[in-house]
Amino acid sequence: MVDLVKYFLSFCQAESCGKCPPCRIGTYQMLQILEKITTGNGKPGDIERLVKIGKMVQKGSLCGLGQSAPNPVLSAIKYFREEFEEHVYDKYCRAKVCSGLGAFVIDQTECFRCGLCKEACAFDAVKETKDQYFIDRQYCTSCKACYYACPIGAVKVRKPRHLKLEEEFKIPSESIEIIEGRAKMTLRDILETKPIEIFCVNKNQRVKDAIKLMNDRNISAVMVVDDSNKLVGMFTERDVVRLFAKNVSFDTEIVGSVMSKDMITFDPSTEISAAISVVANKKMRHLPVVDGDKIIGMVTYRDIVSYVLPEVIYMAEDMY
Ligand code: SF4
Ligand code: SF4
Ligand code: SF4
Repeated sequence: MVDLVKYFLSFCQAESCGKCPPCRIGTYQMLQILEKITTGNGKPGDIERLVKIGKMVQKGSLCGLGQSAPNPVLSAIKYFREEFEEHVYDKYCRAKVCSGLGAFVIDQTECFRCGLCKEACAFDAVKETKDQYFIDRQYCTSCKACYYACPIGAVKVRKPRHLKLEEEFKIPSESIEIIEGRAKMTLRDILETKPIEIFCVNKNQRVKDAIKLMNDRNISAVMVVDDSNKLVGMFTERDVVRLFAKNVSFDTEIVGSVMSKDMITFDPSTEISAAISVVANKKMRHLPVVDGDKIIGMVTYRDIVSYVLPEVIYMAEDMY
């Protein structure tokens, strides 16, 4: 997608008559940035710069050509931003079109040792041992010559970051991609994998009622609501221990006066990765999910881990 918008923009840039500076200079600058990004030299802030210049070109150009020239770039960033980010931050092109990006590796299970990749490499980065060819990434410039030379596709292009994990921890890149994909999902996705059960007590109920509910349903926390069913606090196992230590009567004390009030609520559209960082930062174990005033459900830290990491747990069992 990044290469495609570079093609469209280079066409408009070549066709610009040069009469108005925003079109003449703006499209040139955008093209320069795209060139940087697609050759592995993108820097943080480049995507934002593309958007800023693109909007200026749209507004400042006199004719339709200049006004529409940035459209493919802006639309692609809007709908395929992830691909731009991969180019800039991961130095990786998922379409395997851009040269200078990605980490090259020979899949030993597929390679039949014809040596064509070694012949194609001008940088002497493909090494040969008694029983295999391999790429020494210290010398590799990611020029892709070996990738094109291999007749059976045994030369693979990987995200450099993934390859490091794969080599150090023996976690296959495909599994890392699945985990990363899940971290971009939202709390709503987790809730949809659970039975829809919302456990609440009224703030005027006694503590013993809350404890009974937690025991009956085998849960570690309940949400506390007011008379209009609005979430006003949380009551957790930690509160039970705290009250027990203080000799508070479970029979007479009401939940509203002992619950935790300074809780953080989450919108169902919160990305799992964002929720993890808040939870880790605030040392929370329960995440009440609300949409406006309506309670949608509760996600626990355990729910998140078992949603995001099944592959890692499976692989850890496989490894040890
Ligand atoms: S916007 Fe139109 S008139 Fe202005 S430089 Fe571009 S092509 Fe020429
Ligand atoms: S990508 Fe280029 S430099 Fe790297 S191993 Fe292949 S041919 Fe050699
Ligand atoms: S060209 Fe492909 S099959 Fe031949 S040695 Fe290189 S990786 Fe192996």
